[in-house]
Amino acid sequence: MTKSDFFIEYYREVHGDSGLKPGRDDEWRLKECPFCGDDRWKFYYRAGKRVGKCYICCEERKGYNVWQIIGALEDVTPAEARRLHIERALGEIRHAVPGELGEQIAAMLDKGKSEGERRNEVALPDEFVPVYDKRRGKWSWPKYLTERGFERKTAIHFKVGWCKGGPYAGRIVFPIRCDGQTSFVARWAQDQSLVKRGVVQKVKNPTDSYHAIILFHYDEVKRFCDQAALSSKPMTVYIVEGPTDVTRMWQNGFEATVGLFGKTLHAAQIKLLLSLAGDVRFVMMLDPDAIASAQAGATALKLAGAEVDVAVLSDHDPGEMDAAETMLVVSKAVPFSGGSMLKSRLLAKISKKIA
Ligand SMILES: [Zn+2]
Repeated sequence: MTKSDFFIEYYREVHGDSGLKPGRDDEWRLKECPFCGDDRWKFYYRAGKRVGKCYICCEERKGYNVWQIIGALEDVTPAEARRLHIERALGEIRHAVPGELGEQIAAMLDKGKSEGERRNEVALPDEFVPVYDKRRGKWSWPKYLTERGFERKTAIHFKVGWCKGGPYAGRIVFPIRCDGQTSFVARWAQDQSLVKRGVVQKVKNPTDSYHAIILFHYDEVKRFCDQAALSSKPMTVYIVEGPTDVTRMWQNGFEATVGLFGKTLHAAQIKLLLSLAGDVRFVMMLDPDAIASAQAGATALKLAGAEVDVAVLSDHDPGEMDAAETMLVVSKAVPFSGGSMLKSRLLAKISKKIA
């Protein structure tokens, strides 16, 4: 049970202990409702759900989410409260983590800063043929997709296509739409031994694309989170390495999955993840070799207030697993412990009043 969370720690730090007391289970009570100002301890906050309810002013409502509450306390919009929290948390993390990991994080954040103004506006290749042409109701299905266990509904959902000619000939093309940006990745779909022998690249990215600042399947996952937040439902978002992993996860019923374009979680990607609405828990599904390289990202994500679990993969990557195997791996996910001992020290710093 989550008795305390970043909101409670924030509240203590910024507004003090006197207006706060523990209630039953994961519940906390605030003396003064941030919304109506009633000061008879009628505001209940549940750390496990990150939802608060005032028995004076929201009798008929589901309650307020944590960003609405912080927004009301700080007199800013919920979106602004969230943005400020993310900026502040990421800004302070660099100073809070000592040693090599701290240097990794600082380097990641500095890189993120210099990447700040970049955007991807990459169009699909001219030779792009959609696997399913919706307008004409026609399929153009490369054998590779069948070999990889791709189902047709998956191809439709991800708007997958392929190229028969041009610079991406022989490749499956996965369009990317992320936070107003567009790009694609093109995966080799012919003789795989050519990849092993180094004759062709497994994945070919458009040269003018910058994948460190986008996530695969982000817009769809954002929509899932928005919907869940409307009904105060918790969400689990899975983080995997690449588009093939995402499509297979989706096909296996793990729809809220985003993909990095490699093994590293970058600063801009962390921002995108943190800006997903509602009560989101992240599960990083990374292979054991990659956990070290993901540690900086996972630590930053966690210290910025996100709940992060790590699911350790065995000998398959998520792009090769069936639903049962995925379920098993996910069921063994454990809370990411990196950075936890630094958390109290960090929170003392980041929880200054949001200016
Ligand atoms: Zn109230």
